[in-house]
Amino acid sequence: FTSKLPDVGTTIFSVMSALAAQHQAINLSQGFPDFDTSDELKDLVNMAMQKGFNQYAPMPGLPALREVLAAKVQRLYGTSVNADTEITITPGGTYAIFTAIATCIGPGDEVIIFEPAYDSYIPNVLVNGGVPVLIPLSYPDYYIDWALVKSRITTRTKMIIINTPHNPTGSILKAGDLQMLEHIAELHNLIVLSDEVYEHLVFDGATHESVLRYPNLLKRSFAVFSFGKVFHITGWKMGYCIAPAHLMAEYRKVHQYLCFSVNTPMQHGLAAFLQYPEHYETLPSFFQQKRDHFLSLMKESRFTPLPSHGSYFQLMKYDRISNEGDKDFAVRLTKEAGVASIPVSAFYQDGKDDHVVRFCFAKQDETLQRAAERLVEL
Ligand code: GLN
Repeated sequence: FTSKLPDVGTTIFSVMSALAAQHQAINLSQGFPDFDTSDELKDLVNMAMQKGFNQYAPMPGLPALREVLAAKVQRLYGTSVNADTEITITPGGTYAIFTAIATCIGPGDEVIIFEPAYDSYIPNVLVNGGVPVLIPLSYPDYYIDWALVKSRITTRTKMIIINTPHNPTGSILKAGDLQMLEHIAELHNLIVLSDEVYEHLVFDGATHESVLRYPNLLKRSFAVFSFGKVFHITGWKMGYCIAPAHLMAEYRKVHQYLCFSVNTPMQHGLAAFLQYPEHYETLPSFFQQKRDHFLSLMKESRFTPLPSHGSYFQLMKYDRISNEGDKDFAVRLTKEAGVASIPVSAFYQDGKDDHVVRFCFAKQDETLQRAAERLVEL
């Protein structure tokens, strides 16, 4: 047997969460909230189960859910998408990303990926025979150097993956970035995979620059979204993908034989919950408060925060505390200080180490407080 992914180990999220559990550390590593979702959403799902909505949903997702999502896209991004042909409900954002890559990428196809990169992108490309073309984001601002992007495009470049708000850095793309992307993607006929799972977690009054706002991007993009990340239900594994009908038709050919369809009662619950825009319109300020709370608690520490404009992550440099590599530091922090984080080198293929760790602030105020009490001691 020859491994298709010889260089891939266990995802850093599993590794750090397991280490946190083993040492009873406060887990600010893997990105998930430690507070519950609303009773209203849970009641809606319960009700759907009680009403007997317990068999297979239609393969692309429940029509009522896709319709409410089309209305949300219209409201937020001023774009009409066809609920019938352009939206597919998926078991989570990571699955939606894999499916888009599997739909488009075959042996020798090059895919542009910016690093630091969410850890599934590269293995997803490799397992489909594609070739990741890695482009570093600038440090420490983590912006895209579009001149560098242009210089790395070849006749084999098929796809470019963007992620805004960005995991792990919390950087966000600006309108100018999307315009540049629009231009480059048109010129070289690229497919865009836009990971927007943190779409509602954009801070300081900034706008979320979705590809859905740009008609010339929309017609060549797969945009990926997550219910888990925004409604505090990561364990439900629910997300969705939006793409133009001709791409979505191909996507569904793959999706129908990967998982066929997504669980029914939760789709009913989410369809009803999404009738109320305040359920997502309150999210930016809710998460911004978490970021600000964490930052103010950490002011007393010797960690240096890098700017977080979105997502639920805060990067911190620790060079005033230690000169260890970030993996060693994160392990020691978990075992000795009792706070788990993610070493950012895990998001670089070559392990580039800027002595930065990622903390997830999607936690109860009291959890952040307890974690900060430990971190300021260092
Ligand atoms: N997206 C989450 C994070 O960055 C983790 C997702 C996962 O564990 N697969 O922490």
